[in-house]
Amino acid sequence: MSFDSSLLQNQFQDDDFPEESLRPKCLLDFRGQSLAKENLSVYIRAALERKEALDHVFISGPPGLGKTTLAGIIANEMGAEFRATGAPALEKAKDLAGLLTSLSPNSVFFIDEIHRLRPTIEEMLYIAMEDGELDWIIGEGPAARAVRVPLPPFTLVGATTRPGAVSSPLITRFGIQQRLNYYSITELEEVIIHSAKLLPSDIRADAATLLAQCSRGTPRVAIRLLRRMRDYAQEARSPIITRKVIEHSLVRLEIDRLGLVRLDREILHTIIHKFGGGPVGVETLAIAVGESRGTLEDFYEPYLIQCGLLQRSSRGRIATGLAHSHLEENSV
Ligand code: ADP
Repeated sequence: MSFDSSLLQNQFQDDDFPEESLRPKCLLDFRGQSLAKENLSVYIRAALERKEALDHVFISGPPGLGKTTLAGIIANEMGAEFRATGAPALEKAKDLAGLLTSLSPNSVFFIDEIHRLRPTIEEMLYIAMEDGELDWIIGEGPAARAVRVPLPPFTLVGATTRPGAVSSPLITRFGIQQRLNYYSITELEEVIIHSAKLLPSDIRADAATLLAQCSRGTPRVAIRLLRRMRDYAQEARSPIITRKVIEHSLVRLEIDRLGLVRLDREILHTIIHKFGGGPVGVETLAIAVGESRGTLEDFYEPYLIQCGLLQRSSRGRIATGLAHSHLEENSV
């Protein structure tokens, strides 16, 4: 069975791509998430000792927290091949079959956005994960018959921003389940200082602290902001990124001291001023702020909830008292 290489993502293969060059390659360089790292390193060492593929791993958490990075690290630490794809790319049974049958033994096969798998593909995965085989139909019509194709041993790493949308038959087939949480300021400072060295760029310690405070607990945001700060420092002819450069730049980027961007504030403003503080349904809110429901639920809301500015209830979204005072200090 052959596979279509356009189904693969190029993570960990293209070091020219800006995000790729900063991606940690081993557990030691992966900042924060200490519990997840400790657990994984135990499981990896044990699997290596037994010369077996690692059990299947499920990683959940908001976007940009390191799910893809961690999947690649698992492959590196296992000394195994890494193949990555996204659930929406797996349209037909033959797409998945082609990928699985072409894996080398003990490979790490990463499926991003695993909550978006089609039901037929998901069912095929159940057997692949549990029995290490594929159910494959040969022929058509009355002459069609199912054969079981053996697969090389592999580790499936499934990532999702929405664990609640993953069916329980799928989740229970993952022997290892890790949730990634938002990073602390200190952990983000480490990400920023380490990334600045790699760029390379110079950043003062107090500037890194301020940047970390405005990075929504998310390494991807921290790294993106660091790149912009480097641009603003260059414009100001400052050889080093200082706190002053960052303060000016945050104003220009309309990012406030909690790291909220304009749309975060607009969401809160809309709930308070158009819907009497809530509750308002997520569909209505998405239309009112002109953003897709998915982006609202996956990216904006989790951080607003984490900051104590928004509450989700069965009747809809509610702005908290803290949201009122935050908006008084920071205009939309
Ligand atoms: P996700 O798959 O959860 O959306 P990624 O794995 O793509 O997130 O990570 C986004 C970016 O953040 C990458 O450039 C990666 O280098 C960086 N990153 C994520 N987690 C860490 C970490 N723990 N330490 C250092 N950099 C990280």
